[in-house]
Amino acid sequence: MAGQQLRYDGQTVVVTGAGGGLGKAYALFFASRGANIVVNDLGGSFKGEGGGSSAADKVVNEIKAAGGKAVANYNSVEDGDKIIDTAIEAFGRIDVLINNAGILRDISFKNMKDQDWDLIMKVHVVGAYKCARAAFPHFRKQKYGRVINTASAAGLFGSFGQTNYSAAKLAQVGFTESLAKEGLKYNILCNTIAPIAASRMTATVMPPEVLENLKPEWVVPLVAVLTHQSSEETGSIFEVGGGHIAKIRWERSKGALLRADDTFTPGALLKKWENVSDFSEPSYPTGPANFMELLEDAQQLPPNPP
Ligand code: NAD
Repeated sequence: MAGQQLRYDGQTVVVTGAGGGLGKAYALFFASRGANIVVNDLGGSFKGEGGGSSAADKVVNEIKAAGGKAVANYNSVEDGDKIIDTAIEAFGRIDVLINNAGILRDISFKNMKDQDWDLIMKVHVVGAYKCARAAFPHFRKQKYGRVINTASAAGLFGSFGQTNYSAAKLAQVGFTESLAKEGLKYNILCNTIAPIAASRMTATVMPPEVLENLKPEWVVPLVAVLTHQSSEETGSIFEVGGGHIAKIRWERSKGALLRADDTFTPGALLKKWENVSDFSEPSYPTGPANFMELLEDAQQLPPNPP
């Protein structure tokens, strides 16, 4: 496909939180490449307060003015089934789901209230689940589907004042990795992106000169490639922003092996602690089975010397 223009003619793409920022950039792109778009947006503040129809309507109007096809949906992603219903009612199908809607409730852990935690979980974790759950039967039936879930560097690496957001964002990784395994035989490919882009979310935390080089449109090519029918990529995690795109994976250290004899003690572990943190001979696990294989291999080893 290299060098060719990727097209999505006749496909339906649902983009959640498409009233602004990254979601709007995805919606405009897919519409310009022939797809029918469901522009979902609740229209609230970046903290998840309030709501309205104008954010989604504006994007729909922009798509239509350019000759594209789009409908608005104003439900919260917590009611994902209603968003997918909009796609089926308007266009008769869904091919691509981009779980992008998000809010922030940044606050130090010491001061966090249950509401800050719960709202973040509802929008990011429940929201991504509900939309994917409603889309999945359609994907299975047609043996085709593409899902993008949106994580964050805060989820991958942690971030001060974002314990709630970090937890919800790393949840996207586990969710996607398992969904990718379940979807594979139905050609349902699922990937996670951790984007960085100028939006109202980052406007308060980054200076304008930095934001100028983080255009949301620059995240689009990765999402376009991953959701295209030619893609074979699934279960992967990508960092993307400012024109840089890289894959992230799990790395396992060499590790220490203890035996169920007199060396099977905390003291024995401390003696081998260097091995636990030694990444000079890494392995790259892709499933729980990899760890069990490691244990089976270890059983072939001679017993510990006295
Ligand atoms: P944004 O605030 O511009 O866009 C998020 C959109 O989601 C908003 O239009 C908002 O109205 C909508 N939304 C919020 N709650 C909703 C709900 N319950 N139902 C439906 N829509 C809802 O921010 P953005 O930067 O474009 O963020 C898009 C996604 O990327 C989010 O998931 C965010 O967490 C993630 N992200 C962004 C960055 C970045 O640098 N911008 C970094 C890491 C992750």
